Amino acid sequence: MREYQLYIDGSFVPAESGQTFDSINPFNQEIVARVSRASAADAKKAVVAARRAFDKGPWPLMPREERSALLKAVSDKINEKGKELVALEVADSGSTIRKAKEDIFLSARSMNYFSKLAALDLTEPVEGLGKPGFSKNLIVREPIGVVAAIIPWNFPLKMATWKLGPALAAGNTVVLKPSELTPCTALELAQIIHEAGFPKGVVNIIPGFGPEAGEELARNPLVDKVSFTGSTAVGKKIMALAADQLKKVTLECGGKSANIVLHDADLDLAVDGALYAMFYHQGQCCEAGSRLLLSRKISAEFIQRLLEKVGKLRTGNPSDPSTDLGPLISRKQQERVLGYIKQGKKEGARIAAGGGVPTAHDLANGFFVQPTVFTEVRNEMKIAQEEIFGPVLTVIQYDTEDEAIALANDSMYGLGAGVWSRDNERALKIAGRLRAGTVWINEWHLISEKAPFGGYKQSGIGREFGIEGLKEYTETKHLHIDELGSREKKPWYDTVVPK
Ligand code: NAD
Repeated sequence: MREYQLYIDGSFVPAESGQTFDSINPFNQEIVARVSRASAADAKKAVVAARRAFDKGPWPLMPREERSALLKAVSDKINEKGKELVALEVADSGSTIRKAKEDIFLSARSMNYFSKLAALDLTEPVEGLGKPGFSKNLIVREPIGVVAAIIPWNFPLKMATWKLGPALAAGNTVVLKPSELTPCTALELAQIIHEAGFPKGVVNIIPGFGPEAGEELARNPLVDKVSFTGSTAVGKKIMALAADQLKKVTLECGGKSANIVLHDADLDLAVDGALYAMFYHQGQCCEAGSRLLLSRKISAEFIQRLLEKVGKLRTGNPSDPSTDLGPLISRKQQERVLGYIKQGKKEGARIAAGGGVPTAHDLANGFFVQPTVFTEVRNEMKIAQEEIFGPVLTVIQYDTEDEAIALANDSMYGLGAGVWSRDNERALKIAGRLRAGTVWINEWHLISEKAPFGGYKQSGIGREFGIEGLKEYTETKHLHIDELGSREKKPWYDTVVPK
C-alpha cells in the first residue's frame, strides 16, 4: 500500500488534522493508498502559499522560455515513469490497461504541448485605433493569479495535466484538488513537479473531499479563478461560491451527447463508432455518446449488428489487456447506474442487452455493471435526459433529419454530438444546427489539447485547450502608448484643460 501526503509550498506534509482516507481499487476493493485528507484549513494553507508564490515569487515574471522548460521536464518525467503510472491508474481508477496506457501517453503529450504554449508571446497589436502616429495599442495577456483547479475521477492524471499545463503556461500559480476517489497519479505528479524544480508554492496538490477542501478553494478570497471539471450540479455550487468575489470560472460539466446515424452511413463504421462512443471507459466519459439517434430506415439492421457486438464486449479485470470494460469507480456509482436501469424499465423502455451486474465469480468484488442497451426509448424519459455516467446506451429512432436535430438539441446539456454519414456536406449542415461544443463527423471521443473543448448550455462555461483555452487563464490588458509627444496635438486639448 502506498502512502501520500499533501504537497504544499514545495513540501510534502500531513493534513493539519492528521486525518487520512483510503483510495480503493474498484476491481477488488483492496486499498491502493492511504492519503492525507485535506480539510478547509489545509486548502487555506495551500492558497496562501500559491498567493505568495504569485505575488512575491519569480514565477509570473520568469522568462517564458524558463517556464516552458520546466513544463517540458514534467512531460519527459511522465514518459519516464510511464509504466508505473499506467499500473497505478488502473489500480486506482478501474481504467482498463489499454485506456490507461493511452491516458498516460496523452498526459505527457499535452504537457509537452502546453510547454510550447508557455513560450508564446500572446501580445497582439490593435489596428485602426485612432489616426496613424497618434498612439500604439497593444493587447497584453497576463496571468490571472491564483488558480484553484478541481477535477473528477474519470481521467485522473490527464485531467491534472489539462488543468496544470495551461494555468502554469500562462504564468499562474495553482492549487489542484484531485478527486477523493482517484488521488494517486496526481500525487505522483506532485513528486515529478517537485523533482523538476518549480519554485515553492507555484504548484500545490491537495487530495481531499469536495465539501471540505473543494468548497474552501471556491470561496477563498485569495483565489482569482476556479477551473472546475465535474458534474453540472457541483459546477453550479462552485459558481455560486465563486460569485462572492466575482472570481473567474471555467466549468467543464456533464453531458448527454446525441449520436446521430443517418440512413446513408457506413454501417460497419457507425456500429463500431456507436459502441466506442458509449462504452469507452464503461461510459464514464462526459462526452459519451449516450443517446443514439437512429434513422428508422436502418434502425432494425443497426440495432441487430450493435447487439451482436455488445454481446462480444469483455467485462473483466482491467489489468488484463483483453478486457474491454472494467469496473465502475465506486459502489455508489454502481448503485446509481443500476438505479437508472430500474428507472428505464419503469418508464417503459426495453432492455435489449445487459441490465444487471455480471455474474462471473471473479468479478464479485468489483463495482461492475453489464454493458446495457435500452431500445424503444423516448427522449423525454429520464434515462435519455439525465447523465447516467455508466455503460447504459439509450436508442431513439427518428424519421426526418429535422426530427433528429430537434431530438439532439432537446437536452439541458450541449457537450458533444456526432453525425455518421457517407455524405460530409450533409453531415456538416446538420453539425451546424447542433447545440454542442464539439461535433464529430464519422468519429467520436477525439479530444485534442490543440482544439477548444467545452460545453453549450449546462455542459459548462468556457473552453479548454488550444490558444483559446490558454487565454482562459489570462487577464486581458489594453496598453495604450502615446506617440504624439506633444500636448497641443492631443484630441482632448480643447476640452477641459486650462490653456
Ligand atoms: P463531481 O462533480 O462529483 O466531482 C468533481 C470534483 O469536484 C471532485 O474533485 C470533487 O471532490 C469536487 N467536489 C464535489 N463537491 C464539491 C463541492 N461542493 N465544492 C467543491 N468541490 C466539490 O464529479 P465526478 O463524479 O467526480 O465526475 C463525474 C462528472 O464529471 C460527470 O458529470 C462528468 O460529465 C463530468 N466531467 C466533465 C468533463 C468535461 O470536460 N466537461 C470531463 C470529465 C468529467
